[in-house]
Amino acid sequence: TSNSEFQQDAGRVRVAVRVRPRNDEDRISDSDYGDSVEVQPELKRLKLRKNNWMSESYRFDEIFTETASQNRVYQVVAKPVVESVLNGYNGTVMAYGQTGTGKTYTLGRLGCDDASERGIMVRALEDIISSTAPESDIVEVSYLQLYMESIQDLLAPENTNIPIHEDPKTGEVSLPGASVVRIKDLDHFLQLLQIGEANRHAANTNLNTESSRSHAILMVFIRRSVEDKSTDEIISQEKASRNGLPIIRRSKLLIVDLAGSERVDKSGSEGHLLEEAKFINLSLTSLGKCINALAENSPHIPTRDSKLTRLLRDSFGGTARTSLIITIGPSARHYAETSSTVMFGQRAM
Ligand code: ADP
Ligand code: MG
Repeated sequence: TSNSEFQQDAGRVRVAVRVRPRNDEDRISDSDYGDSVEVQPELKRLKLRKNNWMSESYRFDEIFTETASQNRVYQVVAKPVVESVLNGYNGTVMAYGQTGTGKTYTLGRLGCDDASERGIMVRALEDIISSTAPESDIVEVSYLQLYMESIQDLLAPENTNIPIHEDPKTGEVSLPGASVVRIKDLDHFLQLLQIGEANRHAANTNLNTESSRSHAILMVFIRRSVEDKSTDEIISQEKASRNGLPIIRRSKLLIVDLAGSERVDKSGSEGHLLEEAKFINLSLTSLGKCINALAENSPHIPTRDSKLTRLLRDSFGGTARTSLIITIGPSARHYAETSSTVMFGQRAM
């Protein structure tokens, strides 16, 4: 099936492209520019047309056209990661793309009025809650914003400059000081996400920036008691702590709504905007290097260069499963940004 490629081995980052439906602005400019994106979903190919003479074609693990439903995107891209997290591995789902192309729609959409509109965060929690036992398993979340190399707690916004701690023995990454909330049910989670969104908006107003200039990171921690080891899939011994019986198996899922990938014109920017642009470049560039290193099976994944990649360190590569969703718009007026976004996704292929 078309999903099987996505479910393959850990290690390499799986990459899907999602094309946003045309909006009013696209329609207005269409007469001038037309479309630059042509998709051949059955071939998992995307063709980018620069002009009438030049076009390039790229292959990905999956291509979603503008008619792809939220459910389908979840099933193909995120569900395999969620399942492996439920089996004790860490995992990451990220969205990368220019502002306005659908990262937050794909990941963070609450769908309070219409459940079919729900994004990956809500669907993942729905699956995790229904697959865990409320008495013996624990599901917790943290919700953070990473802006200019500083981590802020979106569930308790007075917590800023949260440090990243890495266990020297296990390599496990943790954030001392970030709030961790145990999830009772899906409504509880929806409330938390809403609070987080409101805090994000308020924080960015205070910082005098746009939310598109920061990364939003949802962390889901799962602790499950494993009754009988022999009936289960492989358990990483470092992660299973044995206090008599049962064994507690821990894993985490990261869902990352990345800062907009558009290049801020550095020549025209100064002061704060220039600093902001430098930090976004730093984190997205270092993410690209890590994805590239994974694709090349390099023994060294350069995660030290930015806070974003330090945070991801134990949740991609190795035994972790990672999916990257590249979001693009259809219109040719964004050809340059679309092309650079697509090239970023190609680094994983
Ligand atoms: P980003 O987070 O990348 O800046 P958004 O998710 O905020 O972009 O999307 C920008 C706009 O486009 C929003 O109004 C959103 O509802 C709409 N949109 C994005 N993707 C889709 C889609 N696949 N289907 C319908 N509307 C979409
Ligand atoms: Mg957004």
